[in-house]
Amino acid sequence: MAPSHAVYMDDRIADREVGNTGQRLLRPRVRYVSGPRVRYVSETTPNALLGLNEAQERVVQELGATGEQRPVFPDGLAVGLRERLTTGLQSVAANLDDSDNLFISKFLLSQVLGCEARHIHELQREFAWSVPVARGTVAHKAIELSVHWRTVPVANELVDQSIATLTNNGSPIADYLLHLPEAERAQLRSEAANSTQAFLDGFPPLRAKPQWRPAVEVRGRYEFLNSKLVLSGKVDLTLGGPTGDRSGRVFIDLKTGRRSRTHVDDLRFYALIETVRYGTPPRALASYYLDESRLSVETVSQDLLWSAADRVIAGVERHQTLLNGEDVPIYRPGIACRWCPMQSECETGKAWLAATDEDELQILS
Ligand code: SF4
Repeated sequence: MAPSHAVYMDDRIADREVGNTGQRLLRPRVRYVSGPRVRYVSETTPNALLGLNEAQERVVQELGATGEQRPVFPDGLAVGLRERLTTGLQSVAANLDDSDNLFISKFLLSQVLGCEARHIHELQREFAWSVPVARGTVAHKAIELSVHWRTVPVANELVDQSIATLTNNGSPIADYLLHLPEAERAQLRSEAANSTQAFLDGFPPLRAKPQWRPAVEVRGRYEFLNSKLVLSGKVDLTLGGPTGDRSGRVFIDLKTGRRSRTHVDDLRFYALIETVRYGTPPRALASYYLDESRLSVETVSQDLLWSAADRVIAGVERHQTLLNGEDVPIYRPGIACRWCPMQSECETGKAWLAATDEDELQILS
């Protein structure tokens, strides 16, 4: 029998939400059986009872929001953004051939607004899979499976299933996986399993939290100007969702390796697509760095969405100008020169790398 004055921890949790109102987590509810209101719960008890480690707890703290922290954006915002995109890119659409349309992705925008010389080179280069490129695809599929796995997920099993699925579902990586030599396959399994394990260890277990409405590899698309132009993107993970016109969704991109400014711009691009598509923006954007078990979170604002629209217009206009040969590409050297396929023949890139000392390169890498 329970002693009087005992305090029970209830794993129905209160105070903060990741998703909609009523989706509660984090702070344990205390139920007093009888006697005076004395707390016997230590500071560390909640995490232990919830089974969250410190890194997982941090994710909940940084992504959670109370109802009051979920904004309602002004009427007309989505309409205004659609108008700006349509007006700003009317001339680009008009100059496309009748049978032509232009897919605008985060990759196209980050390339053309980075080093233009490299952008033009990449457009002409045939894409080739490699272990560093493939590991993200394999790990993301493994993480997607983990959200719906019915037993305790094990990274190596998830990765094996991910490779099997991607090999058999006709995805663009299928042929590469099918003909992968054993040593490269082992390397790919190892690297993808490390990323998957980092997610399982550092992120709260989503399969136990269906009320957060997790969705993985979420595609967004917005066609305009008679479908001549198409904004297209895919978010790694979303949590929560809007309630009417009240924002509630959080966009999360999973990242291996170093932080980069383009990660912020990519998420803003997704937020723009969501807004012009549904009319309600997401409330927060986050990059989750698997190697660090850390988030970088940005709150969505009107200014952010307008600047994302202007960035799309600037990038697409410049892309078409370069493609039509109306201007010469600008060389913009930076840390990306280190991995640029043109490096051996690019004097600008070689000069920048030679002038940048090793310590600075390490910090930027
Ligand atoms: S090496 Fe650097 S400057 Fe040269 S094309 Fe590549 S990214 Fe641009």
